[in-house]
Amino acid sequence: MPEPLDPCPAPDLVLTSARQPGDDLCSDIYLRAGTVSAIVPSRHSAVAFRAATQVVDLKGRYVIPGLWDEHVHMTQWAMTSNRLDLSGAGSALEAAAVVGSHLARISGEDSAPEAVPTLVGAGFRDAVWADVPSLDLLDGVTHGRPTALISHDLHCVWLNSAAAQRYGVPVGAGGLLREEPAFAVTRELGRLPDRVVDPWVQAAGQAAAARGVVGIVDFEMTWNRDAWLRRISGGFAALRVEAGVYPQDLDRAVAEGLRSGQPVAASGGLLTVGPLKVLIDGSLNTRTAYCVDPYPNGGHGLLTVSGPELLALLVRAREAGFVPAVHAIGDAANRVALDAFEAAGIGGRVEHAQFVRSEDFARFGRLGVTASVQPAHALDDRDAAEANWPGQTDRAFPLRSLVAAGATLALGSDAPVAPLDPWTAMSAATARARQDGRGPWHAEQALTRQEALTASARGRGRLRVGDPADLAVLDGDPLTVSDAVFAAMPVAATLVAGKFTHGG
Ligand SMILES: [Zn+2]
Repeated sequence: MPEPLDPCPAPDLVLTSARQPGDDLCSDIYLRAGTVSAIVPSRHSAVAFRAATQVVDLKGRYVIPGLWDEHVHMTQWAMTSNRLDLSGAGSALEAAAVVGSHLARISGEDSAPEAVPTLVGAGFRDAVWADVPSLDLLDGVTHGRPTALISHDLHCVWLNSAAAQRYGVPVGAGGLLREEPAFAVTRELGRLPDRVVDPWVQAAGQAAAARGVVGIVDFEMTWNRDAWLRRISGGFAALRVEAGVYPQDLDRAVAEGLRSGQPVAASGGLLTVGPLKVLIDGSLNTRTAYCVDPYPNGGHGLLTVSGPELLALLVRAREAGFVPAVHAIGDAANRVALDAFEAAGIGGRVEHAQFVRSEDFARFGRLGVTASVQPAHALDDRDAAEANWPGQTDRAFPLRSLVAAGATLALGSDAPVAPLDPWTAMSAATARARQDGRGPWHAEQALTRQEALTASARGRGRLRVGDPADLAVLDGDPLTVSDAVFAAMPVAATLVAGKFTHGG
């Protein structure tokens, strides 16, 4: 009989009767000063944890390293929950009908016309509609109420005449804005007072913690550091946040001495400077993803930053200590991004990597470029992908091919494009199907459950001594539950730095 182990000094919290996925026997997990200080077989540790200030019996539940969502637009996500959902509209006509009946329901608010808030809708997918949006169609159902509808991938905004006038933007008969003009109006729509938005962000953070999330990389298109410091000083403690920086703010970031990975003072350890986000192409849904072969209706999409411009930016990032995160969706954009990483002699991340030439798969691992992927998009976009890249979708959302070629994956949602729920992302990555009976899409590109968990936890496949005490407690074994349970995994508790952010 071995001596009881005595992990000194005394832990702050002991989680007893915990199991790691795949383990038959239970362990007791000792947490101290925000880290995992010991993992001891349960039958050996009865004496040692008496000094703990808190003991929680997990009753055989499963413990995994806490989950990260590597690509979030947090303010957009928080606001989405307050916007009219158009994701179910199968046509422009249906979307207009949803807007019309919503306005009929809320009619009776009578304030002065200039004080009426813009009605904001989100989530429409015009790429798969048989009809086309138009100004007249939206004007016909909105009766002068300013209305702005944002596409599910955020690259397109459909306005009515009143909204076009309110925001001072010229729109054609289609009422549509794409790319930068669409982003500009979206930013305008997001200009709500902090006192309105911060509680929404707080609630969204809490909801994420309830899904086992311990951290996010926030790519909101703004100067994120100060917004997060304000929220944290106002009590936000649900998640760790890495705050992304955009090129327009790089001078300021450098002048203030920021670099990727640096903890931000006065954030209680929750806030870190994130990557430098650079967008170089558009999206699949709007056919602006930059592709080698032309789209069926012509054009190769948009390259919004040239190869030489990107190289100059990556060299600058390297010198300033920033990890570049390059948004590249089309295969030509991915090639441009990888070429720039190679020439700059710096690793980093490609955000999305949705469509990749097979000869580029192995370059990710070789160049130290993480593929930051959003598996739920594969299922959202399967029809658009088949339409735009016919006969080539075997290398669309090529998760298995990337892993097989040595790439490191980091999973995320791109919320609000997909919900901020890593189980939705991991389910899409592992099953390549929804629970809708439609069957898998390119099942050969699926990840294993363990690979998906590891890619959602910054490379941590299991909890180990010395890790940060960021963990999630699950009601089932994520390696063996059914696909349906995995997609909606019950999360009993979540801890960040050894403190419960959910359950407990
Ligand atoms: Zn994004």
